[in-house]
Amino acid sequence: MGSISSYVSEHLFFILFFFICGSIFGSFLNCMAMRIADHEDFVSSRSHCESCNHELGFLDLIPIVSYLYLKGRCRYCGAGLSTSYPLTEIFLGIVFVLTYLRYQRPCILLIFDLSLFCIVFGLSLIDMRSYIIPDGFIITGVLNWFVRSLFTGFEYGSIVSAFLLSLSIIFLSMIMNKANGKENFGGGDIKLIFMAVLYTGLMKGVLLLFVSSVLGLFGISIGRNKKIPFGPYISFALFLVLLYGDLMLGSMFL
Ligand SMILES: [Zn+2]
Repeated sequence: MGSISSYVSEHLFFILFFFICGSIFGSFLNCMAMRIADHEDFVSSRSHCESCNHELGFLDLIPIVSYLYLKGRCRYCGAGLSTSYPLTEIFLGIVFVLTYLRYQRPCILLIFDLSLFCIVFGLSLIDMRSYIIPDGFIITGVLNWFVRSLFTGFEYGSIVSAFLLSLSIIFLSMIMNKANGKENFGGGDIKLIFMAVLYTGLMKGVLLLFVSSVLGLFGISIGRNKKIPFGPYISFALFLVLLYGDLMLGSMFL
């Protein structure tokens, strides 16, 4: 018990810091995702209420706090605000904290991981809303990997693995498309897998496909609508595999 409390107090500052950072990014990405999915300009247009269109001020936009303070209602028209706002903010806050806890200290690799998780979080939100994964997110993810590799050294095996696994998925989906006459994997999903495997390499890349399939099957079994966006499952699997892949592979092969 004593070791847990000293551990917590040692890391408390950074845990709070990264939770707040995560929730701010979560709020920003949620807003950006909604604008991109709804084809609004996300650079110039100001944040506004979705029902009354009233422009939102600084006090309406504090992650989690504003939602709680306003009791989940718009200050101007009283319309109920979507619970997706605080949920996405809390979610990315937790993602940031868990990523920090994996490294236990602020470092440059942590920054690249957090950037990657922001990218896949943003594209997942768009995929859930519009069933599209914009290329810009994939390109940003590849760029993030490229700059990260300048620090860690390029793993050429990862590049080969990325081509190998995404090509396998393309062939597999061509066969499945022929077999059941509908599109099984979108092009965006395949590009996302390519980008993800650059980070994971081969072994964890295979694990990524396995974990995203399990998550996807689980999602399909509890989901009510027929069309399932696969991006969020690949993204969440990427998060799990990058943070806990060694643990998972270790427990599998022990
Ligand atoms: Zn309103």
